[in-house]
Amino acid sequence: MSRIQILEERCKGCRLCVEACPTGVLRPSGRFNHQGYEVMEADGQCVGCASCAVMCPDTAIRVFKSVKGAAA
Ligand code: SF4
Ligand code: SF4
Repeated sequence: MSRIQILEERCKGCRLCVEACPTGVLRPSGRFNHQGYEVMEADGQCVGCASCAVMCPDTAIRVFKSVKGAAA
């Protein structure tokens, strides 16, 4: 399974990634970073499409795409 990493200190809480995710993986976490922005969290089936990372204006998301046949 693919997964993402959210670099929380880069997040500005804009939620564009939430809207971009086709499988509803991303959501507001209720936690705030040192700049005072609510950071997102991932929960669900990530398909590794990278829409969230492309959409994020602050390059706060890294995508680790699973390779077929490799251990996830
Ligand atoms: S890589 Fe795609 S499926 Fe995974 S969290 Fe981002 S938008 Fe959603
Ligand atoms: S698009 Fe980027 S900056 Fe905006 S909420 Fe998502 S991770 Fe944070």
